[in-house]
Amino acid sequence: MGDGAARARTDRPEWWRTCRTFAREVMEPQARALDEAAEFPFAVHERAAAEGLLTAPFPREVGGAGLTSEEFTDGVGELAAACAPMTWTMVFSRGALHPVLDDGTPEQRERFVTGLLRRGGYAALALTEPDNGSNLLAARTRAVRTDSGWLLNGAKCMTGNGTVAEVFVVLADTVVNARRRGLSFFAVPRDTPGVTVGENLAKTAFRCLPTPPVTFRDVPLEPVSLIGEVGDGEHLLGRLLATIRLGGAACGTGLVTALLRNAVGWVGERRVYPDERMDTLSHVQLTLGRLHVELSAARALLRDAARLADRGLPFGRESAMAKYYATDLAVRASNEILQLYGWRGIAADYGVEKRWRDARALTIYEGSSEIQLLTVFRELRRAVVRGEGV
Ligand SMILES: Cc1cc2nc3c(=O)[nH]c(=O)nc-3n(C[C@H](O)[C@H](O)[C@H](O)COP(=O)(O)OP(=O)(O)OC[C@H]3O[C@@H](n4cnc5c(N)ncnc54)[C@H](O)[C@@H]3O)c2cc1C
Repeated sequence: MGDGAARARTDRPEWWRTCRTFAREVMEPQARALDEAAEFPFAVHERAAAEGLLTAPFPREVGGAGLTSEEFTDGVGELAAACAPMTWTMVFSRGALHPVLDDGTPEQRERFVTGLLRRGGYAALALTEPDNGSNLLAARTRAVRTDSGWLLNGAKCMTGNGTVAEVFVVLADTVVNARRRGLSFFAVPRDTPGVTVGENLAKTAFRCLPTPPVTFRDVPLEPVSLIGEVGDGEHLLGRLLATIRLGGAACGTGLVTALLRNAVGWVGERRVYPDERMDTLSHVQLTLGRLHVELSAARALLRDAARLADRGLPFGRESAMAKYYATDLAVRASNEILQLYGWRGIAADYGVEKRWRDARALTIYEGSSEIQLLTVFRELRRAVVRGEGV
């Protein structure tokens, strides 16, 4: 797996090698303690910043390394093998700022991205609301046009990196006048009056990722906060979700890679009834062999989606497929591998139970598995109606 892949892909960029080393030497040793303490990985981020890992995913124009989607997801997979939630805390500002990077003006990019990267700051994506999780188009957070810009009111929840973010990228129902409204994205600086970040949510998975609620009460926004035109939100949301789901899929493949690598070592050592090494048992061989096939399929789906994105072609369906398959596999693989470890599977020391818990979150965030399948079905139906290949 990992080592074989390294030999086979010597053309992989510096970013991938840096991720691999960083994951093994810095992240892996910290993962358990940070999970137990439910603590944001500040010290890990400091070292990641020194290696350029926090800025690398951004385009060159704003100070990043200009990675392709394929390179980016390759590296994310390596990081996520050590710890998926820590990876998320490190790379998600790139996801959150996607609308600004894609459709922002030069002034917005300078103000909300370049400046933020120079300061080593974070951005958070505020889509989910207490009453609207899967149905993001029903956002109730509302921005109303005023003489000087916009007035924002509403409540978001599960805002990843919310406790540390200095900019929130917010999806809101936008009202210009009685005839003109639509969904729009706004970049909202945290220090704007009326922005309140609540307490981090206690949860069983992704514990080092803070996900607090954020409320906006009569928040005055300058015109520069609106990204794109009023009503562009739905279109930007589609592209944003397609993009961040590549990262979610990479977290899934990374998590399964680590489980499988460790499991092969474990079953090679453990002896079980009547006195056999576990890796001589056919059900163990069949389980791990099948999971490796499935992991390869998950990687192939992800690579296809990332390559389409890199060629500027539509990739929403492929990214939904990749996210669905990789994260569903992460849940199944962690469950099956946990069983192979016996009691050690649920003990903190053996690196299985944390991944089993984290895998559960992967099928919920960035749109649940059901939403991925609905996206795939919509695209399938469209292709059939148009007489395109399926
Ligand atoms: C670790 C983590 C980090 C997150 N980070 C962020 C973040 O940074 N920013 C942010 O905005 N949000 C974030 N979220 C929230 C996440 O995006 C939502 O949880 C997700 O979109 C699902 O919404 P919901 O939980 O409200 O579920 P609901 O929408 O209430 O759905 C409940 C269940 O019903 C199913 N369901 C819903 N509609 C249908 C349907 N039509 N057909 C079949 N089944 C359906 C869903 O699949 C789900 O299983 C995060 C979540 C997690 C777990």
